[in-house]
Amino acid sequence: MRYAEVAVDAPAGFARTFSYSIPEDISVRPGQLVRVPFGAQRLQGMVFSLEDTPQVPQTRDILAAASAEPLLTGEQLRLATWISGYYMCPLMDAAALMMPPGRRVRSRAILSLGNRADDDLSLSPLQQRVLDYVRGRGQVDETRLAAALGESARASAAGLARRGVLDRHTEERRPTTRPLRRKRLRLTGDGAQGLRRWLDEAERNERQAALARRLIADGAPLLLSEANERYGSYAVNRLVDTGWVEKEDAAFERDPLAGRSFQTVAPPVLTPEQEEVAKEIRAALADESASPRAFLLQGVTGSGKTEVYLDAVEECRRLGRRAIALVPEIALTHQTIERFSARFPGRVAVLHSGLAAGERFDQWRGIRRGDYDVVIGTRSALFAPQPDLGLIVIDEEHDWNYKEANVSPRYHARDVAMKLCELSGAALVMGSATPDVGTYYMGRRGPIALRHLPHRVRSGSGPARPEQAPLARVALVDMKEELRAGNRGMFSRGLARAIERNLASGEQTILFLNRRGAASFRQCRRCGFSLRCRRCDVSMAYHTNLDRLLCHYCGDRRRAPQKCPSCLSFQLSYYGFGVQSVEEEVGRLFPGTRVARWDSDAVSGARAHARVAESFGSGEADVLVGTQMVTKGLHFPSVTLVGVVSADVGLNVPDFRAGERAFQLLCQVAGRAGRGENPGTVIVQTYQPDNYAVSAAAAQDYQRFYRQEMAHRYAQANPPYTKLIRLVYSHLNAQTAEGAARRFARALREQREAWGLSDVELLGPTPAYPARVRARYRWQMLLRGPEPRRLLDTVAVPNGWTVDVDPATLA
Ligand code: ADP
Ligand code: ZN
Ligand code: ZN
Repeated sequence: MRYAEVAVDAPAGFARTFSYSIPEDISVRPGQLVRVPFGAQRLQGMVFSLEDTPQVPQTRDILAAASAEPLLTGEQLRLATWISGYYMCPLMDAAALMMPPGRRVRSRAILSLGNRADDDLSLSPLQQRVLDYVRGRGQVDETRLAAALGESARASAAGLARRGVLDRHTEERRPTTRPLRRKRLRLTGDGAQGLRRWLDEAERNERQAALARRLIADGAPLLLSEANERYGSYAVNRLVDTGWVEKEDAAFERDPLAGRSFQTVAPPVLTPEQEEVAKEIRAALADESASPRAFLLQGVTGSGKTEVYLDAVEECRRLGRRAIALVPEIALTHQTIERFSARFPGRVAVLHSGLAAGERFDQWRGIRRGDYDVVIGTRSALFAPQPDLGLIVIDEEHDWNYKEANVSPRYHARDVAMKLCELSGAALVMGSATPDVGTYYMGRRGPIALRHLPHRVRSGSGPARPEQAPLARVALVDMKEELRAGNRGMFSRGLARAIERNLASGEQTILFLNRRGAASFRQCRRCGFSLRCRRCDVSMAYHTNLDRLLCHYCGDRRRAPQKCPSCLSFQLSYYGFGVQSVEEEVGRLFPGTRVARWDSDAVSGARAHARVAESFGSGEADVLVGTQMVTKGLHFPSVTLVGVVSADVGLNVPDFRAGERAFQLLCQVAGRAGRGENPGTVIVQTYQPDNYAVSAAAAQDYQRFYRQEMAHRYAQANPPYTKLIRLVYSHLNAQTAEGAARRFARALREQREAWGLSDVELLGPTPAYPARVRARYRWQMLLRGPEPRRLLDTVAVPNGWTVDVDPATLA
């Protein structure tokens, strides 16, 4: 008898497998989906391994195979197991990352009234609420119930079902994606000759003749929908009647790069600096035992990192292996995608969440067949089924988008990539101008090799040569001084003068402020009434274009009051300003200026981003005002002035990474100036000119920032010197949330004593920041220490808690 270890996709989710026996007539392999009995349900699961002995003496049979083929490779199964263990998530959550899109179908448990629903039974208060909830709706999806009444409602429902009060049955669902088939029009065997004769025989109708000529010239099938649209269905049918053309039904692969053509570009000769690292990377690619195997390239934008990535992909491909390249955000990195596509025409797949599920499904299949040398995508492209993986590239390595913040598993792409490289023997190449201090730390102490590209590449006539970067000159303006001098405006005198000068000389300006909207509504100056989001514990921000107050946490909108809803006075006070008010201020101070705004309110969707970049790049606006979008990877050679309207945004949030984040943003925005011949000027306005992150960014001095940041991290025992795990509990009811937080904290403290885990610190519980989001009260705890998860290993984490290992933010 053979046994399968199966990760079962149960609603609660398990970080372990269960043993099932394999009946004679079913053949399964690791990585395959199966259907298994689980309690009273039949669920989908994935086979993780085949064994000769089960974990328990009694096993049940696998019911059926649910996929014809294994969906995950052995390497991916091992990676999923690691992810589940490290990030403490259900095995199926980890496996689902690597499955073809739409293939994870979870059966739903549907609750309805049972035949004892009206009996007079003694019920707990929660059971009573569950019963009332189901009674009020007739039929309820258990997941909805758990969302409404809390996770513990599931257990109550199960209890009620056992007693016949409720009826519980599972409903199976079908995969949501499948290969797309489309009808096409094509020539029959000797259709080309036949059609030519048909054309010559008589004067033919114009549209029919055009379609015939097109089919002959192309030689390839034409989508029926396109033929109908261009030539009319009458012409199509008429040609089919000749017998030389037929309709066929064929598999059709959706390709997001379809219809785009890229100019092929030959690789440049690398500069000596580039060549030195490229050589080491090639050595790592050629020999799996060569070390180092992981590289961090530190270099400003324009220092030639992308050329080194391209060289590595080229070498990888020469060795018959394939690559994955990660970028933080597709919308803002289309220049990178274009360069890859130009270098490897037809060999690049693009994966990201903006694609339709069907498109992703098709890409997944093509990648798995080995159709692409390189897959470019955001975070989750790491899980593409790239055969013979030889190289992973992570561009802009410091970017926070690499950490999944919202859904399980809350993984960090860099850490998962390091593991995947270890499992597959692939090499890892990361790059950034301002590396994450944690990565840089690994670069200084191993296991990552830190390499510098300190110069911008100047290409011109003759071979490219590295050159001392004409970095922009950065001036810090202390806004306290401005106030003292009587300037209460948004712009310091220096920045206003510089903008004016730039406008006069026809050069372009970028103004950066990392705050959406126009201003936050604070309160009524007369009665103190404060208008906050109904569902979140935050002030709402006024958005000029919508003429509405908007909550940045839940998106709720409401009309901005003219007078105080409480005392009817008109003394409402708005506080601070956002990027929309900067736009208005420019218009007010410099009438006639063409201003463009780039933030998530004004621009969404990959194409829209490209359009803003293009129109500003081609000089259609004089001033570009924007949030962090303007800081990312774009190249505007005619920008000679960058103004940071306030460097202080985000500096004071309760998060130990606030300084690092501010430093990275400021460095990047400063890097937008002087990309052309003119070195350019950056003016940074701040109330905290002595803040170490602000002043190091003004000096564009990463080393100085790193030393100071690491001193703080060390003094406060924060990562990378320790590890953190963040635990969050939320509930609609304030007392319930607080009670659950305190109970679990107490349990953890007791466990810590009992197991002698004194090196795990437990901070909290405290209300999270913000304390309420989408009507749910939120409490959090932090575990900190060299190995904080040893404490969590001693307990079962109660339902309803989210566990975030290595959280990217504490707010
Ligand atoms: P980064 O990725 O660090 O921003 P890039 O690789 O994009 O840097 O290089 C900046 C510019 O210099 C690009 O236009 C690139 O084509 C060019 N470049 C880089 N290396 C070379 C080289 N060895 N020869 C010629 N041009 C180069
Ligand atoms: Zn009032
Ligand atoms: Zn809200």
